[in-house]
Amino acid sequence: MTLGTLFNLRCPGCDQAQPHGHLCPVCSQFLSDLGQRCALCAEPLQTTGLCGHCLQSAPDWDALHIPWRFDGLTRFLIHRYKYQRDRAAGHALLRQWHPPVHQHTPQALLAVPMHHRKQARSGFNHADDMVQFLSKSQQLPIYRDMTRQRSTRPLEGLNKAERKRELKDCFILKSPPPERVAIIDDVMTTGSTVAEITRTLKRHGTRFVTVWALARTPLSGSS
Ligand SMILES: [Zn+2]
Ligand SMILES: [Zn+2]
Repeated sequence: MTLGTLFNLRCPGCDQAQPHGHLCPVCSQFLSDLGQRCALCAEPLQTTGLCGHCLQSAPDWDALHIPWRFDGLTRFLIHRYKYQRDRAAGHALLRQWHPPVHQHTPQALLAVPMHHRKQARSGFNHADDMVQFLSKSQQLPIYRDMTRQRSTRPLEGLNKAERKRELKDCFILKSPPPERVAIIDDVMTTGSTVAEITRTLKRHGTRFVTVWALARTPLSGSS
């Protein structure tokens, strides 16, 4: 724990006094749980297991853990983290985020790589910050040898095939990846970027990929 978090005595959701930068009990209730959802894409589902999409054509990754819907307080805290470099907001969420325990525990964590020009512009890489936090809390090493060799045009508005084409060969590896990797992302929307990262890892020997993200945008047919 850094001095910053030790002396951060306010809830990042409501600014009321709260020790150690945790969300207060009231704000905690306002994180919208995704509820019952597909195990592979986190689409809302009436039963347990997989949705129709994933049964027909499963995603490239093998497991996924996303607890919250990207709205309300969750969205507010993630925006503060990403765009205002409010690490306390992101860390408050990460403290409440618990990865599932299963036999495929990752051997290393990987942040979704940002293109170096984009990172230079923003000066803060929240994905790296998330991975560093989780590396400490989960006691897992970080795999740092994937880079993004070019930036992509915005993926919004492109269909699935166009997104796939746009991302193709976007990521390169500088060393063989571990056999079991968890990809860390803040918000999953279409999943195209993590799918391309998964394919890149698997082409180079990774066998089991878990996607860990904080929140999911409501899909409503956009997958
Ligand atoms: Zn609060
Ligand atoms: Zn699904």
